[in-house]
Amino acid sequence: MPDNHSPSVRSYNMSRIKSSNTKPEEIVRKYLFSRNLRYRKCDKRLSGKPDIVFPKYRTVVFVNGCFWHWHKDCSGFVMPKSRLDYWKPKLKGNRIRDAEHIAQLQNDGWYVITVWECELKKNVRDERLKRLYKEIVNNKKGKKIKNDLLINLNRIHTTELGKERIKKNLSVNTDDIIKWCIRKIKKAKKILRKGKNWYVYFKDFYLVINANNYTIITGSLINV
Ligand SMILES: [Zn+2]
Repeated sequence: MPDNHSPSVRSYNMSRIKSSNTKPEEIVRKYLFSRNLRYRKCDKRLSGKPDIVFPKYRTVVFVNGCFWHWHKDCSGFVMPKSRLDYWKPKLKGNRIRDAEHIAQLQNDGWYVITVWECELKKNVRDERLKRLYKEIVNNKKGKKIKNDLLINLNRIHTTELGKERIKKNLSVNTDDIIKWCIRKIKKAKKILRKGKNWYVYFKDFYLVINANNYTIITGSLINV
């Protein structure tokens, strides 16, 4: 780290380093490991290099420092008083980048969870970690919505353009792409609802289906 920090930030860093031997992401990883979850660390292949990646649950976790990631309405974030012309755009840039990474990951079908450093303070940590674990493994929302899709398979359709796109993207050669998709969906590894779409996952590809009108929007290969 270049030593161009304002004194207030430098002392902030020093106090953090002194007060805790365990980095926030280590606290989270250790807890989830103790609950028998297995993960990948800092996967460079994914947008924003998430701190913890759960391929099985198609979920990623970012553990963010409240200062560097500008946690809004948090006492852990104080804009440095000196060199504001340096710090403000820098920290704002971090925020914008974070938002872009999350959008990209969601677009790729990942469920994204952010854990803030302030949520790991001793008095609130246990509750947050338990909740995080549940959020990762239960995914009740996903299960319920999976049923919603599966009982409406007869409503699934797509446009001519959609048919061509799916065939091309997935290198499928069939006269009835809808029938092919429905057969696949019944055996999906995971079905998630994100915003207005379903994301239906298979070993090496996924389908995106509009949840309001059951139109298959696209199919894409999974590169990770
Ligand atoms: Zn915070």
